[in-house]
Amino acid sequence: MFVYTPTDLQTKAMDMYAVFLKAYGERQLKPPRRDPMTELIMTILSQRTTNANEKLAFTRMWEHYGSWEKIRDADVAELTGLIAPSNYPEVKAPHIKATLAQIISERGEPNIDFLEALPVEEGLRWLRSLPGVGMKTASLVLLFNFSKQVIPVDTHVHRVSLRTGLLPARTSAEKAHTLLLNILPTDPHILYNFHVTCLRHGQKLCTWNFPKCSQCPVTHLCNYYRDVYSRA
Ligand code: SF4
Repeated sequence: MFVYTPTDLQTKAMDMYAVFLKAYGERQLKPPRRDPMTELIMTILSQRTTNANEKLAFTRMWEHYGSWEKIRDADVAELTGLIAPSNYPEVKAPHIKATLAQIISERGEPNIDFLEALPVEEGLRWLRSLPGVGMKTASLVLLFNFSKQVIPVDTHVHRVSLRTGLLPARTSAEKAHTLLLNILPTDPHILYNFHVTCLRHGQKLCTWNFPKCSQCPVTHLCNYYRDVYSRA
């Protein structure tokens, strides 16, 4: 069995990144696409949900309540109905209410801009203390809104990293955040574009059931491709 050194993995990650940039384009991290509070709540709504349904759920919720305080105080059954386009609304509605209650109670207002000044580990810890906020959501808010050195690992980034061999087989998504950070550059712009392009690759070609390897531009870097097609 071939064993990668950390340097091999760093080289492989940067080779993949260069190909993905060409295939999917480069984006600017700044200005952020949304304010931090909206990013946080929309990321909770996005869990196991398509982009279109995440946006629809948020729009229905915001048009009905119009403020974070009103969402905090909302009837949970009513809120569940409004965010129903998002999957698992019965879980997300109480999480959103409790997250808003905790933020407003601790900070005195619905505002998390203070995270900008916090070291990464403290920011991650604080965000993960909120109901319904895991490592992926916390990392996404810290990278997208505050340009912190983190890498959000969603289902697509996780799958592509496992198949290509950037991560050892069976690495959990939780552990993947740390392992990928060890092999990727520290520049938030690169971390952001690695996340976005890897996600796009997972949605478009490296799909869960039937990866479209015949169209893939990183076959020469992929362990899955080598293992499956070298046996063919
Ligand atoms: S070669 Fe196939 S498995 Fe490997 S990254 Fe490309 S699509 Fe995914």
